[in-house]
Amino acid sequence: MTVLEKVQALIARPSVTPDDAGCLELIASWLTPLGFSIERIDAGGVSNLWARRGSEGRLICFAGHTDVVPTGPLAQWTSPPFEPTVRDGILYGRGAADMKSSIAACVVAMENLINRRELANAAGADPQGDTAAHNSHSLALLLTSDEEGDAIDGTVRVVEALKARGETIDFCIVGEPTCVKQLGDTMKNGRRGSLTAKLTVRGVQGHVAYPEQVKNPVHLAAPALAELAATTWDAGNEYFPPTSFQISNARAGTGAGNVVPGSFVIDFNFRFSTASTVDGLQNRVHQLLDRHGLEYDIAWTLGAKPFLTPRGELCEALTAAVAATTSVAAQLSTTGGTSDGRFIADICPQLVEFGPVNASIHKVDESIAVADLEPLAKIYELTFEKLLST
Ligand SMILES: [Zn+2]
Repeated sequence: MTVLEKVQALIARPSVTPDDAGCLELIASWLTPLGFSIERIDAGGVSNLWARRGSEGRLICFAGHTDVVPTGPLAQWTSPPFEPTVRDGILYGRGAADMKSSIAACVVAMENLINRRELANAAGADPQGDTAAHNSHSLALLLTSDEEGDAIDGTVRVVEALKARGETIDFCIVGEPTCVKQLGDTMKNGRRGSLTAKLTVRGVQGHVAYPEQVKNPVHLAAPALAELAATTWDAGNEYFPPTSFQISNARAGTGAGNVVPGSFVIDFNFRFSTASTVDGLQNRVHQLLDRHGLEYDIAWTLGAKPFLTPRGELCEALTAAVAATTSVAAQLSTTGGTSDGRFIADICPQLVEFGPVNASIHKVDESIAVADLEPLAKIYELTFEKLLST
């Protein structure tokens, strides 16, 4: 099957989060003949798959998700979202870009790679070298049907299971759609962390006409909030923009015009780079609030740890594969929201996200250029090959 045929078969399965709709079973049926052993690590109604070929040497993994976001109003789709349709060289369907094409391309890449190596072995071409390389490295796929939703029982559960038995991954490509204008232009070698706080500043409620009897928490907090907003938290680094601080919600007051509120609640969020740490940011916020003499409670939530893969073997292999296939010079980027890469980075020192153009993701008439499908598979194949041959 071509990449196009495979992605069409996947799109035809309406796998809206967390329903896998048989996608993983289909993918498993493609991987089993290639010599992968298939393991289902399902949890909390979520389907997860861990497929591995080989048990030794470096482990090279592809990670992704089979689930898709809801379609939105069906009437707005030019063709039904779960009936893959090609018009003028563009394949339309929910999941076409995010990220069933990446999965199909990865499977084809692995098929080509494995068949080519087996042919070479059978022909006796460099039997020692190739057999050694072949046997001493392993390939894996980590797929979940819960990435677009809460992501509680998806990738994180598989990573926990792998951790529990001491399995680590040496290199991982996450097939998220990272390209912006054309295939190959962008790969993500890191993502910022997300740290949220709910700050409650306490005062004393009373009548606005008797200021000596009240402590207005809005007045008390205002200079501290101004300072928080004006603070430079770090300068970023080679890979990340500076850490940003944003207040998202602020509420106080009873609704009445003659009452000073007794408390003031402020929600804020840090999108932070690897130039800052969670402890460091929290300490600085506490010091600043203490310096302003505030009485407060603060509840922190770490939404996501940041991860970073500095330039190295994986970035270089992928960049070279992109250049060889598309003659585009890929840029490294750490922008955008969080992804499942943050969980895998816990057991994998080199992780990069790379996939097709993301202009249509989550939209009505989600699509991918058919002409990008085989090149995407080629890029994955060349990258795996380079990592296997070292
Ligand atoms: Zn995605």
